[in-house]
Amino acid sequence: MPILAKNKHRYPANWRSIRAAILERAHHSCEFCGRPNHVWATRLGAWCWTKTSAESIWPGERAYKIVLTIAHLDGNPEHNDGMDAGGPVIPTWRIDESNLRALCQRCHNRWDAPMRVQNRRITRRGRMACGDLFDHA
Ligand SMILES: [Zn+2]
Repeated sequence: MPILAKNKHRYPANWRSIRAAILERAHHSCEFCGRPNHVWATRLGAWCWTKTSAESIWPGERAYKIVLTIAHLDGNPEHNDGMDAGGPVIPTWRIDESNLRALCQRCHNRWDAPMRVQNRRITRRGRMACGDLFDHA
């Protein structure tokens, strides 16, 4: 996921180093599905075709490039496995203890989907509450 402008202040100053370390730990492949970074893929049924260049894509296929991003599994960009403390970046090599994962677009979207639904619900409820305040004045 690209970092939203409204959330940029929540990321640490050394985010680029953290990101690089996590990609290194992941060997530049999605840590959920194994797709390598920067390969071309097409959507045929179950997203099963991986290509190494745009030229090998069949005419008419809808292609996209896999771009790994770093996911915060708990949805909190301020929880960076302690790598934002200002010292050298030391990734958590025990992956099961890490809050950070290198994920492809599909896996990142799937992981974040329930949190986005919840955030939309909270936003909607907040708007309704404002409406209640002003409607009955
Ligand atoms: Zn993936």
